[in-house]
Amino acid sequence: MKLQWALATDTGRVRRVNQDSIYADGKLFAVADGMGGHAGGEVASKLAVETLSEIPSSERLAEAFRSSFSEANRRIMSEASHSEKLKGMGTTLTAALVTAEAGKEVFLVQNIGDSRAYFLHRGELQQITKDHTYVGELLRSGSITEEQAAHHSQRHVLTKALGVEATVDSDIFKVSPSPGDILLLCSDGLINHVTDGEIEKILMGGLPLQQRADRLIESANLSGGTDNISVILVEVLGLSSTGEDQDGSSPVELYQEKELETVVRRKPELLSIPRPIDKQAIVRGSRIFTLRVAAFLLLFLLLVGGVLISVQLYENHSYFVGDADGAVAIFHGHPGGLLWYSPSVVQVSSLQLDVLNSVEASAIKDKVPEPSLAAAESYIRNLKARVQQQNYVSNHPLGSAPTTTTTLGTGVG
Ligand code: MN
Repeated sequence: MKLQWALATDTGRVRRVNQDSIYADGKLFAVADGMGGHAGGEVASKLAVETLSEIPSSERLAEAFRSSFSEANRRIMSEASHSEKLKGMGTTLTAALVTAEAGKEVFLVQNIGDSRAYFLHRGELQQITKDHTYVGELLRSGSITEEQAAHHSQRHVLTKALGVEATVDSDIFKVSPSPGDILLLCSDGLINHVTDGEIEKILMGGLPLQQRADRLIESANLSGGTDNISVILVEVLGLSSTGEDQDGSSPVELYQEKELETVVRRKPELLSIPRPIDKQAIVRGSRIFTLRVAAFLLLFLLLVGGVLISVQLYENHSYFVGDADGAVAIFHGHPGGLLWYSPSVVQVSSLQLDVLNSVEASAIKDKVPEPSLAAAESYIRNLKARVQQQNYVSNHPLGSAPTTTTTLGTGVG
């Protein structure tokens, strides 16, 4: 099979770390979406794709592919049991293997969890995998509608994942491609924000494959990017097996017979699914929440403290000259007061308002702010000097100049 492929993964707009892991080597493609507190999610998803990548290429057949999921599960559970930090970690895993079945080149697509595989076949997009979620089960049993499922509060609760139980109950599908078809593997960070219709439109657009992958990530981010987003696009350029057209038969079929049995057997007990796994891991979520709240509170307190200190400083350095029962006086504080500070009288001068001219008197009544006590005192001194000068002039109508300007006078004379 001649292929080209493109990968893209992004932390999204909300999460701090990317717990998704992706892998592609031309024969094997995988997306894993890790969950669990601290580093757990990252470790689990990495372990999952690493285990897959270690299948020797000579053994890349259906059986090795199937058992690699069990091996990944074993490794994740073993790591988790040896570390307090990794306890409870798990991951989804959606993978595609390029192989041959009865002389025909096919993809085997294996899935556990709610990451998805889609197939764009002759311009039509279909979902290959079924979500192993509580809501997915409800949807398949007909208890809720597609619309209800899309907005269900528990749509992130998984019913299956790697790292949870000793046995792995994955689904395997066989996909028979035609040239031009595209296989898409993605984590739920894409699906939460981008509809199947939008995905189809982007895949059908004429952009280079990598740009189509980037566009998918961009779309999820533009509509919120609340989760890590990963996509792998695999485009079939050509097939070596002569392309006999299998018209009529579906290009996607269930491969693993075991799955047929389990689906039937499971139906009556759909609502008693053991141990649902909440991907918005409560421990991790609340830890981040408390850290964020603490950081916010600290910032808030610093801000309030800063404002209080500024007000205090501002208040301490505020004076004004005003009217205290007809006398010119210096007040400490802000005209009209500020927050809980009300101005207090510091000095009442001997200067009465009624000896001032109307302009001066009304300025004093309106209060004249001064930056310091000394400035306020000097303002009053100047007023007194002005009043004295006026008195001098009126008492000595023919006199030349008041004392303050005599030196100048003699200089000229
Ligand atoms: Mn996710």
